[in-house]
Amino acid sequence: MSEREYDIVIIGGGPAGLAAGLYAARGRRRTVLLEKGVVGGQISLTELVENYPGVPTVNGFDLAQTMLKQAESQGMETEYVEVRALEPEGRRWRVRTNTDEFLAKAVIVTSGAEYNRLGVTGEERLTGKGVSYCATCDAAFFKGHDVAVVGGGDAAMDEGLFTTRYAEKVTVVHRRDELRASRVLQERAFANPKMSFTWNTVVEEILGENEVTGARLRNVASGETSEMPVSAVFIFIGQHPNTGFLEGLVPMDAGKHVIVDAWMKTERQGLFAAGDARQDSARQVASSVGDGVTAAIAADHYISESFPD
Ligand SMILES: Cc1cc2nc3c(=O)[nH]c(=O)nc-3n(C[C@H](O)[C@H](O)[C@H](O)COP(=O)(O)OP(=O)(O)OC[C@H]3O[C@@H](n4cnc5c(N)ncnc54)[C@H](O)[C@@H]3O)c2cc1C
Repeated sequence: MSEREYDIVIIGGGPAGLAAGLYAARGRRRTVLLEKGVVGGQISLTELVENYPGVPTVNGFDLAQTMLKQAESQGMETEYVEVRALEPEGRRWRVRTNTDEFLAKAVIVTSGAEYNRLGVTGEERLTGKGVSYCATCDAAFFKGHDVAVVGGGDAAMDEGLFTTRYAEKVTVVHRRDELRASRVLQERAFANPKMSFTWNTVVEEILGENEVTGARLRNVASGETSEMPVSAVFIFIGQHPNTGFLEGLVPMDAGKHVIVDAWMKTERQGLFAAGDARQDSARQVASSVGDGVTAAIAADHYISESFPD
């Protein structure tokens, strides 16, 4: 096990971490980005990104690789390790991973989030090919198509309503006989002529070879199964940020998103959080990139003030 010292350690190599890394390294701070999986985070799963300003269409993995090369060309280092714990050590932070340890003057947490999955056959294979967890990102690809929305909470109604701007018909598939969403969203959803509801029903399988062609459903009351032809299945059954390693260190909201101020500062000196891991993120590539930039600038200022030597 080795121990290395950096000015800035960035935890998570999604869009927020890569943007933070570019700015931190270009600001001549010794910077390392720690990633436990694939650089790009959620966006690396996405076939087509059409809403990153300045880049009309791009494959998500390619966009992330471009961001990585750009940050590394400015001096950012990348290590493929999983962060397990963070501890204050004097004025610095000790970052413990599954292998090495890192000492940092400032830490930027960009560990993102993961959408809860249904866990059914076809879901993983067709993610980015009709299976989506983000209507803002993907609804525009299904103009004039019939689509399904799975879930009954605020996110399902909000994103389902957004989907009606493009889709011909939006069928909400919900496992109960009533919604959990707020009254106002329910009223809007029921009043929308493009939305219909299939109650007491779960998705058992998502169908299609290279793209979604339908969903196999099961009525939980009768046990009856049926097939619904749709071009997309939008799944909104919750999301969980990857913030377990911060438990007890910083204040978080009820959903375990880190609470930060407008400069992405947490309550702890030298500890910043940006992107989907923070409270009230817009959960987009562009907003995460903006967060990462803000956090890197704030971390740079913090180091100048707190480590003048
Ligand atoms: C299928 C899909 C399609 C999408 N399409 C679009 C789109 O078209 N346009 C758009 O703007 N947005 C889209 N989004 C949303 C967008 O991808 C996210 O908002 C964005 O990726 C969030 O960036 P982030 O850097 O905050 O976190 P993430 O992208 O979640 O990245 C976090 C990274 O941190 C790593 N990590 C987590 N924990 C640890 C740890 N303990 N140690 C080390 N590394 C760790 C993860 O492996 C991951 O790589 C999509 C999301 C999904 C799931």
